[in-house]
Amino acid sequence: MKRLEDYRGIVPDEILADLHKRASRLYDRHVVHVNSTAQGGGVAEMLYALIPLMNDAGVDAGWRVLVGGPDFFNVTKAFHNGLQSEPIDLSEQKKRLYIQVNEAFSQYTHIRHHDAIIIHDPQPLPIIKFYKKRQPWIWRCHIDLSDPDPKLWEFLQGYILRYDLMIVSHERYLRPELPIEQRIVNPAIDPLSQKNIELPERTIAKYLKRHRIPLDKPLITQVSRFDKWKDPLGVVEVFKHVREKVDCRLVLAGNMATDDPEGFGIFEKVRRKAGALIDRGDVILMIGATDIEINALQRVSSVVLQKSLREGFGLTVSEAMWKGTPVVASAVGGIPLQVIDGETGFLVDPTDVAGCADRIVEILTNESLARELATRGREHVRENFLVTRLLGHYLALLAELLGVD
Ligand code: UDP
Repeated sequence: MKRLEDYRGIVPDEILADLHKRASRLYDRHVVHVNSTAQGGGVAEMLYALIPLMNDAGVDAGWRVLVGGPDFFNVTKAFHNGLQSEPIDLSEQKKRLYIQVNEAFSQYTHIRHHDAIIIHDPQPLPIIKFYKKRQPWIWRCHIDLSDPDPKLWEFLQGYILRYDLMIVSHERYLRPELPIEQRIVNPAIDPLSQKNIELPERTIAKYLKRHRIPLDKPLITQVSRFDKWKDPLGVVEVFKHVREKVDCRLVLAGNMATDDPEGFGIFEKVRRKAGALIDRGDVILMIGATDIEINALQRVSSVVLQKSLREGFGLTVSEAMWKGTPVVASAVGGIPLQVIDGETGFLVDPTDVAGCADRIVEILTNESLARELATRGREHVRENFLVTRLLGHYLALLAELLGVD
């Protein structure tokens, strides 16, 4: 299991000492996180990083994954899209299924004796209705709430109101109409996870060989679930522009999260659109890569692209920056917190395909620019987006909510 002292040399000792001090006030408090997938996507990624460290610090932190079938996840993906501004047909049947699955889950999920309960994202949001609340409940929403479908938002508010605190990733996602306490907490990556840990050259070479990814020309990479908000079709467009100027290769690495049923359809569309380029070996679709394989890929890429149309935060951006790989990313959601345009990477307008391609070409053709962006990017992540900072945030919030401050 990971320990706080393993982070010595990555973050200053003062930060680690402060975490121990904060945690000591919460020794043996029992906290539980609930989300809806153990695999795929940023939330699971963060919980894998955060929960062991909470335990090492002395807080008893557990994790439960909501159990639901494909119909339920179709509904919650529609809710996810609706919260990110897409109009939704909010039928009674969808609402019923959403509630029923949460009620059933609550019956065999015994979280009533914990000292604090942290619910992640909309899938398990209504579960709060099925407990007699005797501790603080936090709703941690990781998605962009700046422009939700009004009917859906009205419906979900009925459950959100029951919480003591809502946490979002960006100030634009705060909702003034909600009469509950709201805070901003930026997500974070774990520099010691398989996804982010330093890798020897030979390990990188082994994994690239396994996936038949040659390094004879520069690699442009996007790592994302096959999701329309990640705009993989737009990525292929951008790549076509770039290769008119620089000979390079595109790798689209994607997985299918178990709570995201739209992935296969999007993947098929990408495959059709990039068909000839795939046949020539200039576009490589890498499906279901392991963490260490994603790590290797992010390290050897000349540019990591994140061409999202909407994005709660975009952990992939910090992951690439931490590895010293220059990033070009859309100025949406939490991405501008990570990419300071021209300093720690380049920000682009998600609708400006040619502009995005130009930025990539700039990096590919200017080695010193690439190096400067990469160096500053890594330090920006060290200061702001490592799991140690996230742990500090949670410890402070828990102390406050439990009145031990
Ligand atoms: N990811 C992965 N394999 C893939 C695609 C994504 O491991 O094929 C990981 C990625 O490295 C990151 C997370 O899934 O850690 C995605 O988080 P992000 O915040 O970027 O987006 P989300 O999927 O939560 O919308």
